[in-house]
Amino acid sequence: METQKQLRAALLSSPGLGHLIPVLELGKRLVTDHGFEVTIFVLPLKASRAEAEIIESAMTPKLLNIVELPPPDLSVVALSPNATMVTRLAVMMRETRPAFRSALAAMEARPDVLIVDLFGTEHLCIGDELGIPKYVYIASNAWFLALLLHSPMLDKEVKGEYVDQTEPFNIPGCKPVRPEDVVDPMLDRSDQQYREYVRLASEIPTGDGILLNVWEALQVEMLAALRNKEFLGRVANGPIYTIGPLIRPVGPAGLGKELLEWLDKQPSESVLFVSFGSGGTMSAEQLIELAWGLELSGQRFIWVLRKPTTKSLDGSFFNVGKGGNGDELLSFLPDGFKARTCNMGLIIPSWAPQMDILSHPSVGGFLSHCGWNSALESMVNGVPMIAWPLYAEQRLNATLLTEEIGVAIRPRELPSKKIVGREEIEKLVRMIMVEKEGHMIRARVKELKTSAEKAVTKEGTSYESLHKMKEDCKIKIHQVKKAH
Ligand code: UDP
Repeated sequence: METQKQLRAALLSSPGLGHLIPVLELGKRLVTDHGFEVTIFVLPLKASRAEAEIIESAMTPKLLNIVELPPPDLSVVALSPNATMVTRLAVMMRETRPAFRSALAAMEARPDVLIVDLFGTEHLCIGDELGIPKYVYIASNAWFLALLLHSPMLDKEVKGEYVDQTEPFNIPGCKPVRPEDVVDPMLDRSDQQYREYVRLASEIPTGDGILLNVWEALQVEMLAALRNKEFLGRVANGPIYTIGPLIRPVGPAGLGKELLEWLDKQPSESVLFVSFGSGGTMSAEQLIELAWGLELSGQRFIWVLRKPTTKSLDGSFFNVGKGGNGDELLSFLPDGFKARTCNMGLIIPSWAPQMDILSHPSVGGFLSHCGWNSALESMVNGVPMIAWPLYAEQRLNATLLTEEIGVAIRPRELPSKKIVGREEIEKLVRMIMVEKEGHMIRARVKELKTSAEKAVTKEGTSYESLHKMKEDCKIKIHQVKKAH
């Protein structure tokens, strides 16, 4: 009888913590729950302490092989200094292709399956060269995926800029997407990032399937719409595997003594956590309003504070851990803010152990930029949100979380367009933390916490979905063998 061979998976992560974290978690899950041997290829890292810590914690215990690829040579491409985050990511990934090919060839044993993330679709052809199945891991939600897969069609159908349209965009079976909610690369059709975005959307169908960082019960209708033959037949290939929520576990370093002692002293669910992802920042004027709003609300808070920005928000993505130091940061806040709020709030410069904070019983709300990792981490911990989208696909996520999933409230106007005033912030904070109006949202997020926990246990839908992907992989490998 043939013995069951251990499958070897090669995973490629694009740069940025928001991409790296879910890829590392997928790698760990493939090893611990499904018996894969996993090698993760990453672009040069450890630019910040946060990145170094995340890589190190993913390596303990040593479940994964992590291979750092050499930096791509960007001197050969005419990359404008004003190139957006999406353009830079796309170009970096493209220029990494020769190094990735060589790194795969140098492996002791050839991988059996290739998994790339959103910006890695140009590497799917390497799977074909090796004659192995290849998948795309979209570490986001079903609505984002539906819009993404539909983008090459919208590109043909819509005339003029998306943001100038008066009607929402119809995506079969899904909630229509309002023009103001489109993802950043769709904001300017003449920009290189738009062409990169449509290109990668059209490459996804060349894979053997899509892995998505949600669980079935979270987006029942949107997943049904995505899987509908009429939709998939037009824009994608292969199954959609819902494998989430894959999120970073609480860190080995924990909260640290001071933070833990402070949180332990606060009443249950009384603290609002305020943080804008790995690099999100806001204008100086908005920062002042936010500080006043927090103070006026009278609620306890932990605020991960970064220097304000005058530049486009999207550039902050590469600034992890460069958000300024304590005294400098305080100078951007209203006079006397720290002294007046010292009994109710903590300010943490630049970076905080988010998962550990969200999982502490004293935390009862999250003012978040709605990056998908943050949204998942909030739901998994049963913490309701104030949605404050800044860039990338965060406006879409904010609408999903408020209008479809029902775990968030949001300012009347998009914070990326208009300053949100202190009175409105005060009202939102009180609503999510204590007022009666927030009750339904607080109850809904608790329900989802339970359903998320169930999905990832053995026999849960996400466990089964990843198992199914493994079985489908084996069939494909067998078919290739037979054909040779
Ligand atoms: N994060 C953290 N501490 C911080 C800021 C961010 O641990 O101070 C982690 C957060 O828990 C999440 C990730 O960084 O896992 C951010 O990913 P997300 O998709 O939310 O946003 P992005 O940074 O990609 O905009």
